[in-house]
Amino acid sequence: MTQPATLTQLITNPSCMDDYDPNAMSVSKARQFIQQFLNPVTETESLPVHASLGRVIAADITSPSNVPNYDNSAMDGYAFNAQDIDTTKPTRLKLIGTAFAGKPFNGEVAHGECVRIMTGAAMPKGADTVVVQEKVSQEKVSGDETCISFSEAPKPRMNVRYTGEDLQQGQTVLATGHLMRPADLGLIASLGIASVKVYRRLRVAIFSTGDELVSVGNPLETGQVYDSNRYTLYGMLTRLGVEIIDLGAIADDPALLESTLLSAADKADVVITSGGVSVGEADYMKRLLAKHGQVMFWKIAMKPGRPLAYGKVGNAHYFGLPGNPVAVMVTFYQFVREAMLRLMGQPHPATLPMFKVECTQSIKKLTGRTEFQRGILFSDTDGIWRVKPTGAQGSALLSSMSLANCFIVLDETIGNLEAGALVQVQVLDGIV
Ligand code: AMP
Ligand code: MG
Repeated sequence: MTQPATLTQLITNPSCMDDYDPNAMSVSKARQFIQQFLNPVTETESLPVHASLGRVIAADITSPSNVPNYDNSAMDGYAFNAQDIDTTKPTRLKLIGTAFAGKPFNGEVAHGECVRIMTGAAMPKGADTVVVQEKVSQEKVSGDETCISFSEAPKPRMNVRYTGEDLQQGQTVLATGHLMRPADLGLIASLGIASVKVYRRLRVAIFSTGDELVSVGNPLETGQVYDSNRYTLYGMLTRLGVEIIDLGAIADDPALLESTLLSAADKADVVITSGGVSVGEADYMKRLLAKHGQVMFWKIAMKPGRPLAYGKVGNAHYFGLPGNPVAVMVTFYQFVREAMLRLMGQPHPATLPMFKVECTQSIKKLTGRTEFQRGILFSDTDGIWRVKPTGAQGSALLSSMSLANCFIVLDETIGNLEAGALVQVQVLDGIV
């Protein structure tokens, strides 16, 4: 697609994008569109290693030393020199001492000798190989002299972890833009590094819109619903590790919506609203967004999640999600999550992993739009993982999201499916 220079240019002249159709925007095109306007945070801070979990690093981390920084034993056994292996008869060695992890054997192992060695202990001088203790028999020769012998000899240099085997001094261990995971915390600690430079937390303001919304703790009258979207958004954003500014549920009142929108855009890097972006609605949000921002309104060729708005209000990125509770979650995972990771400083965030499995039930589906049905991946009686839909798929049925551990992703070309068909799934466990 041709790249428009600015959002404003695109809004005033949408035809500058190849086959741009705001009334039937494909999921991939909308995703691609959003990507081009994302400018990541640049401010950084320094954090102790353990506090950097879930944050994006802002400078390459290089190894100040080799890991491990000395040759050491990978097993409990006996360290000796491989030249002593006797191929014609059992190898017999004199035991001259013990090496513990943290308490090395300071002598030298001469030919015909060995040292009892524990996992992690430094290899003594003169030894290059470890035979595991299970393969060895010990005999007391005289007084305090003990010998060991073994017939199944290890290969030379076996059972030793060599200097720099994990990481070499000066090597880039983690590159700028890396999202810190538990293994990374340990990896950095293994280098003796105590603090990490990361991008500052992204600030995200959220509010719900709708006259019918009531906050939890208050009674419901006919025609009203509890505001659940702010809770799912809170959960999804918390998992991303951003700072959340919760501005509440706002009635469809133009003045209130305007002041809330402006204060959100002023305080946050990203503003996310739910509701009020569909067509034919008391469309205050649309008018407000036209007045204060550059925002595109799309009907995405997807279910659930048809209406979606994206753009900028002031310096803040704006996502206008649909009001339906499942649609909020689907659009978040298909568009917002990846955009947030980009804004947090990850240059190439991974989309949710997708793979094909057999679906055990038939599925009704119209071609021409992508559907994100809620599914349950399960280990079948034969031990093979398969998927089944959660049941009714209405976009207001939040219980379907609660039951699901995956999305069944059915693209625009797919129509009705028989039981046993292969379908794409996106795993949510560990991500949602
Ligand atoms: P809208 O996009 O504003 O037309 O809303 C679509 C549907 O989602 C309507 O049934 C709304 O009542 C419902 N809805 C909108 N916002 C919320 C919310 N925050 N929590 C629960 N349901 C909502
Ligand atoms: Mg509404």
